[in-house]
Amino acid sequence: MELPRQSLAALDPLQWSDQTDEHRAIYKSSLRFVEQSIKPNLDRWEREGMLPKELHREAGALGLTSLGFPEAFGGTPADSWSRALVTWGLSQAGAGGVIAGLMSHSIMVWPLAVAGSTRIQSEFLPRLLAGELIGSLCITEASGGSDVAALQTRAVATEGGWALNGSKIYITSGMRADLLLVAARTGMRGSQGISLFAVPGDAQGISKHALEKTGWLCSDTAALFFDNVFLPHDALVGELHRGFPLVMQNFNAERLLMAVQALAMASVCVEESLSWAWSRQSFGQSLIQHQAIRHKFSKMLQSILPCVHWARRLCEAMDQGRANAGEIALLKNAATRCMRDVADEAIQVLGGQGFMRSSASERIYREVKVMMIGGGADEIMHELACRQLGVMP
Ligand SMILES: Cc1cc2nc3c(=O)[nH]c(=O)nc-3n(C[C@H](O)[C@H](O)[C@H](O)COP(=O)(O)OP(=O)(O)OC[C@H]3O[C@@H](n4cnc5c(N)ncnc54)[C@H](O)[C@@H]3O)c2cc1C
Repeated sequence: MELPRQSLAALDPLQWSDQTDEHRAIYKSSLRFVEQSIKPNLDRWEREGMLPKELHREAGALGLTSLGFPEAFGGTPADSWSRALVTWGLSQAGAGGVIAGLMSHSIMVWPLAVAGSTRIQSEFLPRLLAGELIGSLCITEASGGSDVAALQTRAVATEGGWALNGSKIYITSGMRADLLLVAARTGMRGSQGISLFAVPGDAQGISKHALEKTGWLCSDTAALFFDNVFLPHDALVGELHRGFPLVMQNFNAERLLMAVQALAMASVCVEESLSWAWSRQSFGQSLIQHQAIRHKFSKMLQSILPCVHWARRLCEAMDQGRANAGEIALLKNAATRCMRDVADEAIQVLGGQGFMRSSASERIYREVKVMMIGGGADEIMHELACRQLGVMP
């Protein structure tokens, strides 16, 4: 059973003064979806290790999976902050696996939309955005994920198309995906020999192995093996050997939304532990009456709120085409560290209850490390920031 949460205006997008009607409407829609369709089933999905395909269709019908993508493919134009608010809303389920699994298509459709062949675009994009199909982005390999330019999976020209060989690891939605966007080596070593390919999830020669994890339990994660998978010529996405810049540009939106997710998860921890602190009695008074406890909450807010404003500003910069990748990287680091510290303090306030599976803070605490590693690890984000913000000569 879920623990109660004490809502705080400072953490409630509906009470932030500068939201448009559209922002409020999309946020409310995502909250209703969480209350009606996610929370009643979440524990079962966490045990089963995956989300049902029907959930994607439901989210699609509400327009949550197509927000911010091109109208030409069934998307709904929206600013980046609207997508951030959907992320904040979905985070109220208190389970990052929901967002990772439900939105796995969102980190692979952009390269398809800007550079996919006409056939791939028309066959897959509208159905991915409608939640009828599930998509996965396949970059990371067992030999290392941070150094994308060193990837080893290889696509070789063959009669009528390409032959794909190699493997990928830690792929979100990889067990269920209908379409994989795979980065493979087509040329020389390094970043200039990489291309992207659209690969049907059921193509002959693909085998899949489900991986067991610490958190994000309702999001399936796979190791994928490609054994001479045949791909037609038009499976190539973008120009030959030019996949690396597409991958890198794609990371910006993913990292910005991961930062928002981390902050929203931190807010869930605050509200759950605050409700507990108001009601729990200790030494003749509620926990919140003890200064050592209530100051934990002002410190949690002190770390969350500036990052929310920073995220808002970067969303605007993103829409104006002037967001700095290094600054997004730093926000991701700041937000995921904020999530780590807040989850830690929330559990401290919850005491033994915070160590129980019924607490959202407990689940969020188990999700901290994937947020600090996935989509670009903390150390790599600092490296990127040093390069993009002029720290390096
Ligand atoms: C649950 C989950 C879901 C994921 N989903 C996907 C997905 O859908 N698609 C996908 O492609 N990938 C996915 N990933 C992979 C994720 O992006 C990688 O784990 C991440 O990029 C780090 O790569 P790695 O695990 O190989 O670590 P490594 O690259 O081996 O790095 C290990 C550690 O060394 C540090 N490090 C590496 N190089 C340097 C350096 N030069 N200087 C300083 N420190 C360094 C890293 O920061 C990290 O802390 C997922 C991962 C997880 C855990």
